[in-house]
Amino acid sequence: MEQTQFLQGRHALITGGGTGIGLAIAQALASAGAQVTITGRRLDVLESAAQAQDNLYPLAMDVAEPDSVLQGIEAARTARGPISICVANAGIAEGRSIAKTDLAFWRKVMAINLDGAFLTLQACLPDMKSCGWGRGIAISSIAGLRGLKGAAAYTASKHGMIGLVRGLAVDYVEAPFTFNAICPGYVDTPIVTRNTTSIAERAGISEEAARNLMIKTNAHKRLIEPEEVAASALWLCSPGAESINGQCIEIAGGQI
Ligand code: NAP
Repeated sequence: MEQTQFLQGRHALITGGGTGIGLAIAQALASAGAQVTITGRRLDVLESAAQAQDNLYPLAMDVAEPDSVLQGIEAARTARGPISICVANAGIAEGRSIAKTDLAFWRKVMAINLDGAFLTLQACLPDMKSCGWGRGIAISSIAGLRGLKGAAAYTASKHGMIGLVRGLAVDYVEAPFTFNAICPGYVDTPIVTRNTTSIAERAGISEEAARNLMIKTNAHKRLIEPEEVAASALWLCSPGAESINGQCIEIAGGQI
Protein backbone atom coordinates (compact mmCIF):
# COMPACT_ATOMS: atom_id res chain seq x y z
CA MET A 1 0.00 0.00 0.00
CA GLU A 2 1.29 3.46 -0.84
CA GLN A 3 2.20 5.59 2.18
CA THR A 4 -0.38 8.16 1.04
CA GLN A 5 -3.19 5.56 1.03
CA PHE A 6 -2.97 4.77 4.75
CA LEU A 7 -6.76 5.05 5.18
CA GLN A 8 -7.62 2.43 2.56
CA GLY A 9 -10.32 0.12 3.93
CA ARG A 10 -11.54 2.73 6.43
CA HIS A 11 -15.02 4.25 6.35
CA ALA A 12 -15.21 7.86 7.60
CA LEU A 13 -18.35 9.90 8.27
CA ILE A 14 -18.18 13.69 8.27
CA THR A 15 -21.22 15.69 9.39
CA GLY A 16 -21.57 18.94 7.50
CA GLY A 17 -19.27 17.36 4.92
CA GLY A 18 -20.72 19.09 1.87
CA THR A 19 -19.21 22.54 2.49
CA GLY A 20 -16.36 24.44 4.13
CA ILE A 21 -14.21 22.70 6.72
CA GLY A 22 -16.17 19.44 6.54
CA LEU A 23 -15.72 19.17 2.79
CA ALA A 24 -11.98 19.88 3.04
CA ILE A 25 -11.64 17.13 5.68
CA ALA A 26 -13.70 14.74 3.53
CA GLN A 27 -11.46 15.41 0.52
CA ALA A 28 -8.29 14.93 2.58
CA LEU A 29 -9.48 11.61 4.04
CA ALA A 30 -10.68 10.38 0.63
CA SER A 31 -7.31 11.29 -0.90
CA ALA A 32 -5.71 9.08 1.76
CA GLY A 33 -7.86 6.14 0.63
CA ALA A 34 -10.93 6.28 2.92
CA GLN A 35 -14.52 5.82 1.77
CA VAL A 36 -16.15 8.99 3.10
CA THR A 37 -19.83 9.50 3.86
CA ILE A 38 -20.62 13.22 3.84
CA THR A 39 -23.80 14.34 5.57
CA GLY A 40 -25.90 17.48 5.86
CA ARG A 41 -29.48 18.61 5.36
CA ARG A 42 -29.10 19.76 1.72
CA LEU A 43 -28.78 16.67 -0.46
CA ASP A 44 -28.15 18.72 -3.63
CA VAL A 45 -25.09 20.37 -2.03
CA LEU A 46 -23.76 16.97 -0.93
CA GLU A 47 -24.37 15.43 -4.34
CA SER A 48 -22.41 18.12 -6.17
CA ALA A 49 -19.54 17.78 -3.68
CA ALA A 50 -19.51 14.01 -4.25
CA GLN A 51 -19.46 14.45 -8.03
CA ALA A 52 -16.22 16.44 -7.77
CA GLN A 53 -14.11 13.71 -6.13
CA ASP A 54 -14.07 9.91 -5.96
CA ASN A 55 -14.95 8.12 -2.72
CA LEU A 56 -17.32 10.78 -1.33
CA TYR A 57 -20.87 9.50 -0.68
CA PRO A 58 -23.74 11.93 0.04
CA LEU A 59 -26.28 11.23 2.78
CA ALA A 60 -29.06 13.52 4.02
CA MET A 61 -28.97 13.59 7.82
CA ASP A 62 -30.07 16.27 10.29
CA VAL A 63 -27.80 16.09 13.36
CA ALA A 64 -30.39 17.85 15.51
CA GLU A 65 -32.84 14.94 14.97
CA PRO A 66 -31.89 11.76 16.88
CA ASP A 67 -33.85 9.46 14.52
CA SER A 68 -32.24 11.06 11.48
CA VAL A 69 -28.76 10.42 12.95
CA LEU A 70 -29.50 6.80 13.86
CA GLN A 71 -31.11 6.02 10.50
CA GLY A 72 -28.44 7.88 8.54
CA ILE A 73 -25.56 6.12 10.29
CA GLU A 74 -27.26 2.75 9.85
CA ALA A 75 -27.68 3.44 6.11
CA ALA A 76 -24.02 4.49 5.75
CA ARG A 77 -22.86 1.41 7.68
CA THR A 78 -24.99 -0.90 5.50
CA ALA A 79 -23.62 0.69 2.33
CA ARG A 80 -19.92 0.94 3.18
CA GLY A 81 -19.25 -1.01 6.36
CA PRO A 82 -18.49 0.05 9.93
CA ILE A 83 -17.57 3.69 10.49
CA SER A 84 -14.26 3.95 12.32
CA ILE A 85 -13.59 7.66 11.69
CA CYS A 86 -16.27 10.05 12.88
CA VAL A 87 -15.89 13.79 12.42
CA ALA A 88 -18.55 15.84 14.24
CA ASN A 89 -18.26 19.02 12.23
CA ALA A 90 -21.84 20.18 11.47
CA GLY A 91 -22.61 23.44 13.18
CA ILE A 92 -24.11 26.86 13.07
CA ALA A 93 -22.35 30.04 14.19
CA GLU A 94 -25.05 32.57 14.91
CA GLY A 95 -24.10 35.36 17.30
CA ARG A 96 -26.71 36.88 19.58
CA SER A 97 -26.30 38.94 22.76
CA ILE A 98 -27.31 37.15 25.96
CA ALA A 99 -30.19 39.62 26.40
CA LYS A 100 -31.61 38.55 23.04
CA THR A 101 -30.93 34.83 23.57
CA ASP A 102 -34.29 33.25 24.26
CA LEU A 103 -34.60 29.59 25.17
CA ALA A 104 -35.62 28.61 21.63
CA PHE A 105 -32.42 30.13 20.18
CA TRP A 106 -30.27 28.61 22.94
CA ARG A 107 -31.78 25.17 22.30
CA LYS A 108 -31.34 25.48 18.52
CA VAL A 109 -27.61 26.17 18.91
CA MET A 110 -27.18 23.37 21.46
CA ALA A 111 -29.23 20.89 19.40
CA ILE A 112 -27.10 21.30 16.28
CA ASN A 113 -23.65 21.98 17.70
CA LEU A 114 -23.56 19.90 20.87
CA ASP A 115 -26.40 17.33 20.75
CA GLY A 116 -25.45 16.66 17.12
CA ALA A 117 -21.84 15.89 18.06
CA PHE A 118 -22.96 13.66 20.95
CA LEU A 119 -25.49 11.72 18.85
CA THR A 120 -23.08 11.20 15.95
CA LEU A 121 -20.06 10.14 18.01
CA GLN A 122 -22.19 7.87 20.20
CA ALA A 123 -23.75 6.16 17.17
CA CYS A 124 -20.30 5.43 15.67
CA LEU A 125 -18.82 3.92 18.85
CA PRO A 126 -20.07 0.34 18.25
CA ASP A 127 -18.39 0.45 14.83
CA MET A 128 -15.08 1.61 16.33
CA LYS A 129 -15.36 -1.34 18.71
CA SER A 130 -16.08 -3.84 15.93
CA CYS A 131 -13.16 -2.44 13.88
CA GLY A 132 -10.79 -2.43 16.87
CA TRP A 133 -9.70 1.05 15.83
CA GLY A 134 -11.40 4.44 15.97
CA ARG A 135 -10.88 8.16 15.58
CA GLY A 136 -13.41 10.71 16.84
CA ILE A 137 -12.84 14.36 16.00
CA ALA A 138 -15.03 17.29 17.05
CA ILE A 139 -14.69 20.56 15.17
CA SER A 140 -14.99 22.97 18.07
CA SER A 141 -13.58 26.52 17.84
CA ILE A 142 -11.33 28.94 19.67
CA ALA A 143 -14.73 29.84 21.17
CA GLY A 144 -14.51 26.41 22.81
CA LEU A 145 -11.57 27.69 24.83
CA ARG A 146 -12.32 31.39 25.28
CA GLY A 147 -15.36 33.62 25.35
CA LEU A 148 -16.57 34.97 22.01
CA LYS A 149 -18.18 38.38 22.49
CA GLY A 150 -21.87 38.50 21.65
CA ALA A 151 -22.15 34.74 21.18
CA ALA A 152 -22.71 33.08 24.57
CA ALA A 153 -24.79 30.19 23.20
CA TYR A 154 -22.21 29.40 20.49
CA THR A 155 -19.38 29.71 23.03
CA ALA A 156 -21.15 27.35 25.46
CA SER A 157 -21.87 24.80 22.72
CA LYS A 158 -18.25 24.80 21.57
CA HIS A 159 -16.95 24.47 25.17
CA GLY A 160 -19.37 21.54 25.51
CA MET A 161 -17.89 19.76 22.49
CA ILE A 162 -14.47 19.86 24.17
CA GLY A 163 -15.99 18.37 27.34
CA LEU A 164 -17.53 15.64 25.19
CA VAL A 165 -14.25 14.54 23.57
CA ARG A 166 -12.40 14.73 26.89
CA GLY A 167 -15.06 12.52 28.48
CA LEU A 168 -14.83 10.02 25.62
CA ALA A 169 -11.02 10.08 25.74
CA VAL A 170 -10.92 9.07 29.41
CA ASP A 171 -13.73 6.53 29.04
CA TYR A 172 -11.83 4.72 26.25
CA VAL A 173 -8.26 5.58 27.24
CA GLU A 174 -7.14 1.96 27.03
CA ALA A 175 -8.91 1.27 23.73
CA PRO A 176 -7.29 1.84 20.33
CA PHE A 177 -9.47 4.91 19.83
CA THR A 178 -8.68 8.60 20.16
CA PHE A 179 -11.05 11.53 20.61
CA ASN A 180 -9.79 15.06 19.98
CA ALA A 181 -11.14 18.53 19.32
CA ILE A 182 -9.89 20.90 16.66
CA CYS A 183 -10.35 24.55 17.59
CA PRO A 184 -10.02 26.90 14.62
CA GLY A 185 -10.01 30.68 14.56
CA TYR A 186 -11.78 32.32 11.60
CA VAL A 187 -11.69 30.03 8.56
CA ASP A 188 -12.64 31.15 5.06
CA THR A 189 -15.94 29.22 4.67
CA PRO A 190 -19.62 29.99 4.09
CA ILE A 191 -20.01 30.61 7.86
CA VAL A 192 -17.60 33.55 7.64
CA THR A 193 -19.41 34.87 4.57
CA ARG A 194 -22.73 34.75 6.45
CA ASN A 195 -21.12 36.29 9.58
CA THR A 196 -19.76 39.15 7.50
CA THR A 197 -23.27 40.16 6.53
CA SER A 198 -24.69 39.67 10.01
CA ILE A 199 -21.86 41.59 11.81
CA ALA A 200 -22.11 44.42 9.26
CA GLU A 201 -25.86 44.72 9.87
CA ARG A 202 -25.64 44.47 13.66
CA ALA A 203 -22.67 46.85 14.04
CA GLY A 204 -23.76 49.25 11.29
CA ILE A 205 -20.44 48.89 9.43
CA SER A 206 -19.51 47.89 5.89
CA GLU A 207 -19.07 44.25 4.92
CA GLU A 208 -15.38 44.91 4.24
CA ALA A 209 -14.95 46.34 7.76
CA ALA A 210 -16.82 43.34 9.21
CA ARG A 211 -14.57 40.90 7.33
CA ASN A 212 -11.48 42.81 8.54
CA LEU A 213 -12.69 42.45 12.13
CA MET A 214 -12.60 38.66 11.73
CA ILE A 215 -9.25 38.73 9.93
CA LYS A 216 -7.72 40.81 12.75
CA THR A 217 -8.96 38.31 15.35
CA ASN A 218 -6.64 35.65 13.90
CA ALA A 219 -3.16 36.32 15.31
CA HIS A 220 -1.49 36.03 11.90
CA LYS A 221 -4.00 38.51 10.42
CA ARG A 222 -5.46 36.38 7.67
CA LEU A 223 -8.32 33.96 7.34
CA ILE A 224 -7.36 30.31 7.72
CA GLU A 225 -7.93 28.01 4.72
CA PRO A 226 -10.24 25.00 5.28
CA GLU A 227 -7.40 22.78 3.99
CA GLU A 228 -5.26 23.88 6.95
CA VAL A 229 -7.88 22.48 9.33
CA ALA A 230 -8.20 19.34 7.19
CA ALA A 231 -4.44 18.72 7.45
CA SER A 232 -4.76 18.41 11.24
CA ALA A 233 -7.77 16.10 10.99
CA LEU A 234 -5.85 13.88 8.55
CA TRP A 235 -2.86 13.83 10.89
CA LEU A 236 -5.08 12.71 13.80
CA CYS A 237 -6.11 9.71 11.64
CA SER A 238 -2.58 8.91 10.52
CA PRO A 239 -0.02 6.42 11.83
CA GLY A 240 1.96 8.15 14.57
CA ALA A 241 -0.98 10.03 16.13
CA GLU A 242 -2.16 7.10 18.28
CA SER A 243 -1.10 8.81 21.53
CA ILE A 244 -2.77 12.16 20.81
CA ASN A 245 -5.96 11.84 22.83
CA GLY A 246 -8.34 14.22 24.59
CA GLN A 247 -6.55 17.24 23.11
CA CYS A 248 -7.72 20.61 21.80
CA ILE A 249 -5.70 21.57 18.76
CA GLU A 250 -5.85 25.32 18.17
CA ILE A 251 -5.54 26.43 14.56
CA ALA A 252 -5.77 30.16 14.99
CA GLY A 253 -2.56 31.66 13.65
CA GLY A 254 -0.65 31.69 16.90
CA GLN A 255 -2.95 32.65 19.75
CA ILE A 256 -1.02 31.68 22.89
P1 NAP B 1 -20.29 25.77 6.77
O1 NAP B 1 -19.71 25.59 5.42
O2 NAP B 1 -21.52 26.58 6.93
O3 NAP B 1 -20.52 24.32 7.38
C1 NAP B 1 -21.54 23.98 8.28
C2 NAP B 1 -22.08 22.64 7.83
O4 NAP B 1 -22.94 22.12 8.83
C3 NAP B 1 -22.88 22.74 6.53
O5 NAP B 1 -22.40 21.78 5.61
C4 NAP B 1 -24.32 22.43 6.94
O6 NAP B 1 -24.98 21.70 5.93
C5 NAP B 1 -24.09 21.59 8.20
N1 NAP B 1 -25.22 21.68 9.12
C6 NAP B 1 -25.71 22.78 9.73
N2 NAP B 1 -26.77 22.45 10.47
C7 NAP B 1 -26.96 21.10 10.33
C8 NAP B 1 -27.88 20.17 10.84
N3 NAP B 1 -28.90 20.53 11.65
N4 NAP B 1 -27.75 18.87 10.48
C9 NAP B 1 -26.77 18.49 9.64
N5 NAP B 1 -25.85 19.31 9.13
C10 NAP B 1 -25.96 20.61 9.47
O7 NAP B 1 -19.20 26.41 7.73
P2 NAP B 1 -17.83 25.84 8.33
O8 NAP B 1 -17.05 27.02 8.74
O9 NAP B 1 -17.21 24.85 7.43
O10 NAP B 1 -18.31 25.15 9.68
C11 NAP B 1 -17.99 23.83 10.05
C12 NAP B 1 -17.75 23.77 11.55
O11 NAP B 1 -16.58 24.53 11.85
C13 NAP B 1 -18.88 24.35 12.40
O12 NAP B 1 -19.14 23.49 13.48
C14 NAP B 1 -18.30 25.65 12.90
O13 NAP B 1 -18.83 26.06 14.14
C15 NAP B 1 -16.84 25.31 12.99
N6 NAP B 1 -15.95 26.47 12.99
C16 NAP B 1 -15.93 27.31 11.91
C17 NAP B 1 -15.09 28.42 11.95
C18 NAP B 1 -15.01 29.40 10.80
O14 NAP B 1 -14.47 30.50 10.99
N7 NAP B 1 -15.48 29.07 9.62
C19 NAP B 1 -14.28 28.65 13.06
C20 NAP B 1 -14.33 27.77 14.12
C21 NAP B 1 -15.17 26.66 14.08
P3 NAP B 1 -26.58 21.87 5.69
O15 NAP B 1 -26.89 23.31 5.83
O16 NAP B 1 -26.80 21.32 4.32
O17 NAP B 1 -27.24 21.03 6.73
